[in-house]
Amino acid sequence: MEFLAGSLLELIVQTSTNLPPDVRAAMSLTAAGETPKTQSAQALDIILSNIDMAADDTGAICQDTGMPTFVVHTPVGVNQIHIRKAIREAVAEATRLGKLRPNSVDSITGKNSGNNLGAETPVFHFEQWEEDEIEVKLILKGGGCENMNAQYSVPCQLDHLGRADRNLEGVRKCILHAVWKAQGLGCAPGALGVCIGSDRAHGYELAKGQLFRTLDDVNPDPVLAQMEAEIMQEANKLGVGAMGFGGKASVIGCKIAAADRLPARFFVSVAYDCWAFRRLGVRLDASSGAITRWLYRDPSRPVERMARSEGFALTGREVTLTPPLTKAQMRALRVGDVVLITGEMFTGRDNVHAYLMKNPPPVDLNGAVLYHCGPVMLQEGERWTVKAAGPTTSMREEPYQADVIKRYGVRVVIGKGGMGPKTLAALQEFGAVYLNGIGGAAQFYARTVEEVLGVNLLEFGIPEAMWHLRVKGFAAIVTMDAHGGSLHADVQHATGEVLGTLQKA
Ligand code: SF4
Repeated sequence: MEFLAGSLLELIVQTSTNLPPDVRAAMSLTAAGETPKTQSAQALDIILSNIDMAADDTGAICQDTGMPTFVVHTPVGVNQIHIRKAIREAVAEATRLGKLRPNSVDSITGKNSGNNLGAETPVFHFEQWEEDEIEVKLILKGGGCENMNAQYSVPCQLDHLGRADRNLEGVRKCILHAVWKAQGLGCAPGALGVCIGSDRAHGYELAKGQLFRTLDDVNPDPVLAQMEAEIMQEANKLGVGAMGFGGKASVIGCKIAAADRLPARFFVSVAYDCWAFRRLGVRLDASSGAITRWLYRDPSRPVERMARSEGFALTGREVTLTPPLTKAQMRALRVGDVVLITGEMFTGRDNVHAYLMKNPPPVDLNGAVLYHCGPVMLQEGERWTVKAAGPTTSMREEPYQADVIKRYGVRVVIGKGGMGPKTLAALQEFGAVYLNGIGGAAQFYARTVEEVLGVNLLEFGIPEAMWHLRVKGFAAIVTMDAHGGSLHADVQHATGEVLGTLQKA
């Protein structure tokens, strides 16, 4: 197996950095269909550029490189212990090279292992088969979209849709409800894997398994094929749009499996993947470990360019912000304004927010920009460089954010997916704004970082540390302002009304 290590590393690197052709095609179609000059169209422009940047530089498409999940088929007689060990080594090496973010956190101690190896990490599913080659498929599904997975036990009552019964109409309602509930929190437009039936644990597993189908395939079961087509049509009427900004596309794919269930229970499990839908696979020669064929991509074909423009088309109406910022500057901003930040900012996510509730900040946050981001960083000597740095889901900080704004004078919070009423009230009371960055645009934002000025709280691990960055032209959209305005609340309300119209008589 002299080529096994190299083949597995290449699989991980390609999966993290080069979106598969079926996802590229779906994203191109989505962008072409969006209304020009809308916020959703702007987000899609950045996303398309980001896809190109990641492939050009072999950089992580999104800074959240997810939970590496491997599905491996081996011929009878192949040593699966050996394959598992080789995969673990390849994961650690890809992490060392900055192609994967160190994402594995001990659930008891909170310590990041630093190499993506830990208890039950990565995730393996091994199967034997009667073919001669080894097949390794990999999916990298990030935390933001994983949080948007949903499981329904029907019959149940759903917002805007009424009762979902134990029949296909009930299933349809559950899937549409999951898309509506996700809004932009899972970096819409998303791809759905669905399982009808089974039990709780296996239902989720089968739903995730559907994400290994290509987006353009057709379900061999005509009933499920019809449901997949119907969901695509109806979900894309909702108006969630890219990043939940409101727009035409809410999903790029829907793949459904059905499994038998016990008479007493009926689950509908939905696995929601983001636009950064990273999954690839390889066939390996069982004696050498060399790649004989790629799945989902043809490496002999040139990688198709995605960008329609230079990422973010400037209109001249953008507001430039240079921290430290004042209340008056914040009160002058309104939902929908596009801002460009030039100057210093600090990253901070879950651990930093929890820390700030009990301890003073290690830096001066008065007038500061706080960026919900867990970047991919590499250290060369004393110097740190940013390899990927898009926004993370902000809603996790909802219990803390209002206090952090009040106590320390933060003026701008940047993240994705929006925040709740407590933060909105604090923005209004203390004169601050929330900016939505483009989720998954990790390469795009990494290029705005001119210098890493320092780091605090590194003991929390690289993604959770407080990084001090100097950026130039960091673009984001005001989605919650200091006057009580929230684009997220508006879109949720409007899409909820549309959801209600999708009830069948
Ligand atoms: S694109 Fe969004 S949901 Fe997907 S992994 Fe990145 S941050 Fe998470």
